[in-house]
Amino acid sequence: MTDQGWNVYDPCGDPAVITKGFPIREIQVVLDPGHGGKDPGARGPTGLKESELNLKVSLAVSQLLQDRNISTLLTRTGDYYIELDERIALADAVGAAILVSIHHNAPVAAKSDKPGTEVFAQTGDPESARLAGLLHGEVFEALVAVEGIQWTSRWDAGALRVVNSSGGDAYSLVRKPETTNALLEIAYLASPSEGVFLATDEYIQLIAPPIASAVEKYLASDETGTPLHERARIHNPTGGRRTCPLVDLE
Ligand SMILES: [Zn+2]
Repeated sequence: MTDQGWNVYDPCGDPAVITKGFPIREIQVVLDPGHGGKDPGARGPTGLKESELNLKVSLAVSQLLQDRNISTLLTRTGDYYIELDERIALADAVGAAILVSIHHNAPVAAKSDKPGTEVFAQTGDPESARLAGLLHGEVFEALVAVEGIQWTSRWDAGALRVVNSSGGDAYSLVRKPETTNALLEIAYLASPSEGVFLATDEYIQLIAPPIASAVEKYLASDETGTPLHERARIHNPTGGRRTCPLVDLE
């Protein structure tokens, strides 16, 4: 802060001076549309960028929550880049009850007759596990009812923890926030059949209500959804299957 105002960086990373603004107060839910700008994330068979789809879903969820008198804030509202640490700082600074990061998956997993919805919870936070479980339960139930889709799924899809080799949460957006959080990978944008469906307006209208319902249930009840997998997935940034089922070796 200076005599002229606040020195800040704008969403394009350029320095700017802010002389006035609106204080953000009493935010209950921070929605984080993953990626943006120079980081488009996954890409679908129609050319749709994950960053764009994440934002569409987040805006639709935000509107539904506001209609139910639940206050929301988005970490980004357009197609621009924002650092993970800034997203986290924003959620922690406004004192939100929860941070929900919204993504669509990229690595091609096996074909499946069920959606491969994954929700990542923060290690050691039972409330994060409850949030992840509610999100998984509602989202999976909405998707599995859609007919005629060739889904993609990993064998350990569900509500789970993803850890690195030292045992900490692999994704900083899950590990670092003090705010209770969950990271939602709704479905596989990069897969041919479901990627075409995910690019439709019908999909946005289908998926926003269950996400909003999961958030509302989290805030208003002690309900739990899908139980968290007991065993965490070991994150392997180079790809490949690194998590093993529990097997007794002789
Ligand atoms: Zn993503």
